[in-house]
Order: sequence, then structure tokens, then C-alpha cells
Amino acid sequence: MNPQLLEKQMQDSKQRLDALVQEGRKDSSLQLEPLPVKGYEYVVKVTDKKAHLNAIIAIHDTTMGPALGGVRIRPYATFNDALEDVLRLSKGMTYKSAISEVGFGGGKSVIIADPKTQKTPEMMLAMGNAIETLGGSYICAEDVGSTTEDCKNIRRATKYVVGLTQAKSSGNPGPFTAWGVFRGIQSAAKKIFGSESLEGRKIAIQGLGCVGSILADYLFWAGAQLIVSDIDELKAQNIAKRYDAKIVHPDQILFVECDILAPCAFGGIINDQTIPKFRCKAIAGAANNQLLCDVHGMGIKERGILYAPDFVINGGGLLNVAAELEETGYSSSFARAKIHRIYDCLLAIYDIAENNNDSTHSAAIALGDYRIKYGIGKRLIPPTFHHIIE
Ligand code: NAD
Repeated sequence: MNPQLLEKQMQDSKQRLDALVQEGRKDSSLQLEPLPVKGYEYVVKVTDKKAHLNAIIAIHDTTMGPALGGVRIRPYATFNDALEDVLRLSKGMTYKSAISEVGFGGGKSVIIADPKTQKTPEMMLAMGNAIETLGGSYICAEDVGSTTEDCKNIRRATKYVVGLTQAKSSGNPGPFTAWGVFRGIQSAAKKIFGSESLEGRKIAIQGLGCVGSILADYLFWAGAQLIVSDIDELKAQNIAKRYDAKIVHPDQILFVECDILAPCAFGGIINDQTIPKFRCKAIAGAANNQLLCDVHGMGIKERGILYAPDFVINGGGLLNVAAELEETGYSSSFARAKIHRIYDCLLAIYDIAENNNDSTHSAAIALGDYRIKYGIGKRLIPPTFHHIIE
């Protein structure tokens, strides 16, 4: 972003903050301190002593539209840990949005607090006030450590929040993310076997939470043979009983012999230690940041395993929440139709990677960069906020 534009944005946010305080929130101790970070449009440290709020909002890139991304709440050990996380996550959102063609940019926020013991409604309200000062350049949503209840408290201060539970909101993204992952698994089958049919295919799922459990359902009805694992034994037993699935120990699930491995628990599972041990033909799952480092994208390719880039295959939740900001209002079938296309998008990425002898991860990044450069999927009309305060 050019320095004048950044300066103007900072002035605007200061004015909005002043207006907010004058508007009756005179007791607010909210402070916004911009942190210049190269390659990012706007990063701001947010504090509110009275509300015990210590947070950072990072807007990475708004070329395609306002930045959209969740509010993560974690007891980071240091401010720098929080800064590093918010920078990585907000940049990731830029690419996820660009690939999904939702007409949003990349942003994220982090609150430095233990969500179990330190989170309060006042803290979330103060966070809402901070988001309000950014005038819509950042739209927040639920994320790790935050809940729809927290979003409701944010909504008391700002309309720039999505994924609330009330009517006109998109609700739980899990089934939509799972549908996108299912379509991604079909695309991997098409690429490897020449047919998207999952009839009789052995598919291993790591993690049977909001996404993994619903994915198991979709896969079962498509005829797949399931191998499942969860550190919560009861979840694994329930799925195994319902879908005739084989249970394996959490230490083993990544390395079982199968056609497709679907990691749906946590990130970093593709690394120097795991790459030599995988016994699958493809990895296609919901977990964020599956590659420990970018270089592992090449490592997995060299093992001859097809990898569906996480920020493409798990874009269903984003597509669903973005649908809520359509002018015509939220429609689940509109979201479903968009998520359906994850299949074609992944097939294109596999081909680009193959033609350039590159990793699928790099091919997806290159596609994202191309769309941003030429504004493909750029937002033409501002988002519409349909929800009202309950
Ligand atoms: P979740 O917390 O509901 O489920 C995660 C599951 O993984 C839990 O059941 C947990 O017990 C299990 N698990 C944890 N460690 C495990 C281990 N070592 N072995 C086996 N199972 C283990 O989370 P979710 O919402 O289902 O999301 C799953 C992943 O997908 C996360 O990485 C998340 O960031 C990502 N994701 C989710 C969405 C969404 O819409 N929920 C969207 C995009 C990406």
C-alpha cells in the first residue's frame, strides 16, 4: 500500500475513534496504535485497559474487497508470538479469499487472552468498538477461541461481523466446509484414478469434529470404505458404529494404507518426519496449514502423493459466510453452488502444477497472485449487512 494511503487510513481510523468516544462511549479507554509492517496494508495494536483487551488486527490486502477473517483468542506467550500469528493468518486469508473468488481481502485479528478464563463480554464489546473504527475495511467472524456468543457481543458495537446465529446469518460453517472437502476428495480421485467415484475407495479421516464427522457421512453415502481416528474415543466409536468404519489409534492414522488421507484435526501434519511414512495416494482434508513449511509442498510431490492445498479445499466455510453479505441476503443453495466448484478449481491447480513441474501448493499461490493482480473476482458492490441486533 502506498504511504499516503496508509497515512489517510490511519487518520480516518483516529477520527472514527474520536467520534465513537464522543458518541457516548466517553468512558472508553480504547487505544489504537498502528504498527507499520512491510507487505501489509494496515496492522494495528488494540488496547482497552478497562476491558482488559490486548489485541492486534491485521489487514493484509484489500485489493479484492474488504478484509474478512476471524477473531482468534489465545493466551499467546508474548506479543510477538501474537503478531507473528496474526500476520501469517491474515495473509493466508488473502489467498483463500482470492482463490474462492468471494470478493474479499485478507484480514484476521487476535486477542491475547485465555478464552476459558479471561474472555468477558466487555472485552468483546471493546473489540467490536475497535473493529467499528476501521469503518468496514475489516469484517470479523468466529475463529479458534471465539464463539457465536462472542460475535453477538461484538455486534453490539459494530455491524462488521458475520456468522451470527440469528436469522439472515449463515450459521455453523462445518457442513459447508465438509461439502467442499468432499468435492476436493472427488477431485483427487478424478486426478489419480480418472474417475471421481469414491465407491470402494479407502479414505482415512483424522479428527471427527465439526467437519470430520460430517465428511464421514458424505463419504459413507458415496460408497467409501472409512478408516477413522479421534483422540476422543467416543467420537470414533460413534462414527465406526454408524458407518462400518475401522478405527485406528491417533498415532497411526496418518500412516495407514489408504487411497486418500483427509486430515481434519490440526495443522503441520506434512513435515520432514511424516512425508517418508505416508502410505496414501493423496492428501485432501480440512485442516488449516497442513504443510509445516512451504518446502513440504515439494516434498510431498516428490513422494508422488497428490496434495489438495488446504486453503483451497477448506474454502467452503468462507464461501458460506461470505454468502451472508450478498445483496439478496443469505441463501444456503447459493453457497452450496459456489462450494461445488472447489472440485474444478482443484483440478485446474493440479494441472497447473503438473505442467510446471511444481507443487500444488505453489500452483495455488500463483493462481491467487494472478487473480489479485488482474482483479479476477474483485468485489464490485459493497457487502450488504442484513443482520439486526437481537
Ligand atoms: P473441531 O475442533 O470440531 O474438530 C477437531 C477434531 O480433531 C476433534 O474431534 C478432536 O478431538 C480431534 N483431534 C485432535 N487431535 C487429534 C489427533 N491427534 N488425532 C485424531 N483426532 C484429533 O474442528 P473442526 O471445526 O472440525 O475443524 C477441523 C480442522 O479444519 C481445523 O484445522 C480447522 O482449522 C479446519 N477448518 C475448519 C473449518 C470449519 O468450518 N469448521 C473451516 C476451515 C478449516
